[in-house]
Amino acid sequence: MQNKTLITLSAALFTAGLATSALAQAPAQPAAQPPMFATTKVEGTDNVYIFRYQNHQAMFVVTPAGVIVTDPISYGRPQAAKAYLDEIRKITQAPIKYLVYSHHHYDHIAGGKVFKDAGATVISHRRAKERLVELKAPDVVIPDQVVDGKRSIKLGGTTLDLIYTGRNHSDSSLVMLLPKEKVLFAVDFNSLGAVPSRLAVNDSYPTEWETSLKKTLALGWERMIPGHPGPNGRLGTRKDMEEQIAFMTDLAAEVKKASDAGKCFDPATKEVRVPKYATLAQYEQNIEWNVHRWCGYYGRGI
Ligand SMILES: [Zn+2]
Repeated sequence: MQNKTLITLSAALFTAGLATSALAQAPAQPAAQPPMFATTKVEGTDNVYIFRYQNHQAMFVVTPAGVIVTDPISYGRPQAAKAYLDEIRKITQAPIKYLVYSHHHYDHIAGGKVFKDAGATVISHRRAKERLVELKAPDVVIPDQVVDGKRSIKLGGTTLDLIYTGRNHSDSSLVMLLPKEKVLFAVDFNSLGAVPSRLAVNDSYPTEWETSLKKTLALGWERMIPGHPGPNGRLGTRKDMEEQIAFMTDLAAEVKKASDAGKCFDPATKEVRVPKYATLAQYEQNIEWNVHRWCGYYGRGI
């Protein structure tokens, strides 16, 4: 009896295996793999581009007087910065004037040597430089100049404002605003229609993050370029940011209640949920990490 069951099961698995491999080989279903990297011009602008490499992206601005590059996005893949520069060189031969870091996390800023060697002045928030000097990562270029609150770069008829809106996903985030184009480049602290990931909340500052989002929202922008491509590659909207503020406000209120009831970290991480936001992408995968981080803040003061 037992043997017969086994044989039947094996036969079923074998058939299923055949079906799977037949499907895998079917020419009618080609895998739609996006190219490794791509450069796109931001619609409605004369000179604002997005360079994407796998799942990271950065903005660059081309002017007759030179190019402003942001985030080299080359952590563990030095070829990305090389490809980034090659892509710029297909558009312009103007000098690379600036390289601006969005914040100090390596996945966004490793690999800047290509741009430094091309003549760029490297700029970051003051705290990013302090961290990078301490950390001495071999593939991260130490910034030449720092910004504390705000700095405007004027180059070849374009203005780019570098603005610190406070601690959020890191303590060193600069947002980059093109006031004429009303385009903002902001990295890792605004998830487009999603619950922030484990990595996004790991190094973060609850409640200050909300304040930073509100300050960022108050800047005069209409479209946001994120540091990771949005759903179907779309840009961020003000509605995305408003939604994230609402999510974080409600999350904070729920975790605070649980914390005051002595439930942090356990059982709060398993129990506290904000079902109103369950339709956000990655809600199930990420909500526990968010509760855990906010529990650290309210429950332990960390
Ligand atoms: Zn980050």
